[in-house]
Amino acid sequence: MDNRDDIKYCGKTKKYCYTSEAKAQRSLNAYEQIKRVYHCDHCDCWHTTKISGGKAFELGIIEAEERRSISPKRIRKEIRKLKNKLKE
Ligand SMILES: [Zn+2]
Repeated sequence: MDNRDDIKYCGKTKKYCYTSEAKAQRSLNAYEQIKRVYHCDHCDCWHTTKISGGKAFELGIIEAEERRSISPKRIRKEIRKLKNKLKE
């Protein structure tokens, strides 16, 4: 018996494995949060991916913003603010 249609998860990405691009594409059309399908060399199947905060960071969309807001000076300022709140 051919078990290729059994539910299978990738050992590398832990994602659900689609046995064909067409199948992955179908779920892309069905779920708005799925943004992209791609082929995985590890399991020789297709995975879907959505743009998350982490992905946006990876793509450099929010990286600049994060870098600006998290500086030692900023952290010290935040701590001071919190300490003042505790005193109140
Ligand atoms: Zn995979």
